[in-house]
Amino acid sequence: MAELVPPHGGGDLKPLLAPAGERADALAYAASLRQVALTSREVSDLFMLGMGAYTPLSGFMGEADWRGVSVDMKLENGVFWPIPITLSASADVAGAISIGDSVALTDGESGEVLGVLEVAEKYAIDKALECTQVYRTTDQSHPGVQKVMEQGEVNLAGPVVVLSEGHFPETYKELYLRPEQSRAMFIERGWSRVAAFQTRNPMHRSHEYLAKIAIEVTDGVFIHQVLGALKPGDIPAEVRTNAIQAMIDNYFVPGTVIQAGYPIEMRYGGPREALIHALIRQNFGCSHLIVGRDHAGVGDFYGPYDAQDIFDELWDGALRTVPLKIGITFFCRKCDGMATEKTCPHGPDDRITISGTRQREMLSSDADIPTEFSRPEVVAVLKDYYSGL
Ligand SMILES: [Zn+2]
Repeated sequence: MAELVPPHGGGDLKPLLAPAGERADALAYAASLRQVALTSREVSDLFMLGMGAYTPLSGFMGEADWRGVSVDMKLENGVFWPIPITLSASADVAGAISIGDSVALTDGESGEVLGVLEVAEKYAIDKALECTQVYRTTDQSHPGVQKVMEQGEVNLAGPVVVLSEGHFPETYKELYLRPEQSRAMFIERGWSRVAAFQTRNPMHRSHEYLAKIAIEVTDGVFIHQVLGALKPGDIPAEVRTNAIQAMIDNYFVPGTVIQAGYPIEMRYGGPREALIHALIRQNFGCSHLIVGRDHAGVGDFYGPYDAQDIFDELWDGALRTVPLKIGITFFCRKCDGMATEKTCPHGPDDRITISGTRQREMLSSDADIPTEFSRPEVVAVLKDYYSGL
């Protein structure tokens, strides 16, 4: 039987979602508790805890874990963890809560009760320290930094029980896979070496090539989409999914690709985020994570290969899932095919690249997108979306 990488932390998967049969009673109990409203990032983290993607965490981090993770990429118990998973509240809200209290966690936008936190600790953090260590900047034009700087003054920590996964299971249906489910699918197909491809965009030829390089050296690729909140102007998940499916159906060998999505919200933390993407994929059963150029970066905050290099700084045993480091991919006219910086000796003039801004212009007009850049089946899905805007 196929052996997959074990969940992170050395034990079993740890989904914190209450069993379906217990949720109604637990929600009735939660309705009687004091409420703490979560930001969209905190909601996405709660869903990640619920599905077991953050195994072995049992809830939101306390101060020792927050500090260890920020500074040394380690939980207090020594287990590798690269980005703090914390919950904040205003001083007023936190002041009314005592250690040992159970509080209801609600979606700050919809008001829906999503879970219960047993408050074990309340603490204030040095936000600049977290930003400097994790994001390598305190510049508030960085969207991840901005969210840390805007969060409440007090962190609430302790174990959580998750009582809802929000709209995700209903909205995304078969796309929404929990780690337990992806592992079962890999085993059913006899896969043990699985490469995860993280995306928040439709896939053009360059991304298709990345995925195909991965398939050459593994059993299959897990195209794993970000379903959490995105930046304004990003293409909605359902359009992306259809565009990616058009590519899979027409250009991949059947049985070599699984498309799925998960509820994370991007922090745009570049290198540190690449590490947590790998950790999460270990929980989903993936042995490899494709790490391309400027993975999870934003603007010019990170060097193009920082997110690849950071894996070399980890200690032995920190993480079982390893990066598949691949450079920038493109179609080269002189090579007359897809290539990377490592395999193509020609210059930028021979390579077909189209900026994101230019793509949007071309997709919203009648402009022809070269087949060397994007597959016509993919372009058709995207043009249909842009024409409706
Ligand atoms: Zn070339």
